[in-house]
Amino acid sequence: MSKILCPYCRKEIDETEKICPFCTTKLTKDDYKKLLFSLGAGLYILWFIANIAGFLILNHYPQILTIKNKDNELIFSLIEYIEICIQPAVIILVPFIIAIVKKYKIKESSICIITIVLTLIIFISYFIHLQKAAGV
Ligand SMILES: [Zn+2]
Repeated sequence: MSKILCPYCRKEIDETEKICPFCTTKLTKDDYKKLLFSLGAGLYILWFIANIAGFLILNHYPQILTIKNKDNELIFSLIEYIEICIQPAVIILVPFIIAIVKKYKIKESSICIITIVLTLIIFISYFIHLQKAAGV
């Protein structure tokens, strides 16, 4: 039987549980969808902060972008950045796609997906801007 996290006390409980044995909160199906939504939002915030932190560092030390390996290739290239940026973004999209499939908050989930994609485009554009500024 699969385990899930209680949306209230975050303890691991059985999926079939109707009342959380730890915090005695009554659980409805909707609570898990809520958890799904907050999971996606939490991941998005983490991803966003990580990218902003990266940009702050690159803004301070633009020379990082010009470092080359012994084959004269950029160590931190655009392709590299796109890979680093897209992989977590795909994972962040999953909870919202599941929400849409389960017909839960379709409008909000769609807005979240659009926001993630737009953020991704802005991040990549900003990376290109930083590269140009660094003279790559
Ligand atoms: Zn609980």
